Amino acid sequence: MGVILGIESTAHTFSFGGVYSNGKTISSTSALFRPEEGGIHPREAADHHSLLSGNLFKEFITKNDIPVSEIDAIAFSQGPGLGPCLRVGASVARSLSEKISKPLIGVNHCVAHIEIGRLQTGCDDPVLLYVSGGNTQVIARNGGRYRVIGETLDIGIGNMLDKFARTQGIPFPGGPKIEKLALEWLNNNPNASLDEIILPYGVQGMDLSFSGILTAAVQKVADGHSLQEVCWSLQEHSFSTCIEVAERALAHTGKNELLLGGGVACNERIREMSELMCIDRGAKAFWPEKQYCIDNGTMIAELGRKMIKHNLYTKLEDSAIDPSMRTDHAEVVWD
Ligand code: AMP
Ligand code: MG
Repeated sequence: MGVILGIESTAHTFSFGGVYSNGKTISSTSALFRPEEGGIHPREAADHHSLLSGNLFKEFITKNDIPVSEIDAIAFSQGPGLGPCLRVGASVARSLSEKISKPLIGVNHCVAHIEIGRLQTGCDDPVLLYVSGGNTQVIARNGGRYRVIGETLDIGIGNMLDKFARTQGIPFPGGPKIEKLALEWLNNNPNASLDEIILPYGVQGMDLSFSGILTAAVQKVADGHSLQEVCWSLQEHSFSTCIEVAERALAHTGKNELLLGGGVACNERIREMSELMCIDRGAKAFWPEKQYCIDNGTMIAELGRKMIKHNLYTKLEDSAIDPSMRTDHAEVVWD
């Protein structure tokens, strides 16, 4: 059976993944760029990706026993993302495509988060709460497109968590460590009250913002609150804003499925909040396995698989990357 290869390289992660033509997923082989200090410098991340790409590809096909002759098509993240990083993925995809004479499929990274979630969880027509490093969006399908109903007006929620973590000496990615510290606080203080540590609540209509809460959280630590307490409050406030907008999106669209996607969807607390909100309104919450929440090549392959069923291949001359590609850019013709 043929395999669709997927290449992810929008930001910190370079990853190969695959999906068989019947929809059976092949776990990704990935490398994460971790800056020694500071944030992700796009060019340094791109250098990391291009250095590792050859060995990573070999590891992926060897580990999964995939003869190159079985690869039917090569899907890659065409946007949105960091230009230098996207360019590495696109170049690798083009070279492979030329070498093995198999077609290219340029894929929208955000839409891929939705499609891997649908494949993995079996939900059909969800509102997607996409909470990742660089992106935070609430998305729903309507009139042949995935429409952005609400989104961050400044930084992504994961980026906010990572930046806060960095101010406290916690290396990238900071989200998992913040989750751990927040849980420790709650376990030690089961009656903890948010009244003791209020942070800005960044909801503006259907949109979100996270830069204010970042500044305020750093200040709370400077004021003497414990890091654990601030992590807990940071999660409670920022996740609540996402859940509020997601709930309104369910109400406006009349949909009754909420799907989580993006790296922050690995967090048990945002999963719990999603579930509680959905139960409250007779809806259902879904999330894919953690390996498919974070950026991965398998999700790119899955969207590629759906697109080629409708002959949506990408010609070499149309394969340029688009760092600011919008979620609603692509016409959604597949089921
Ligand atoms: P992505 O950009 O979708 O690959 O996701 C990466 C982002 O997810 C980073 O900002 C991480 O800090 C964040 N992340 C990963 N695991 C967790 C977690 N358990 N809780 C909160 N954020 C997380
Ligand atoms: Mg992502």
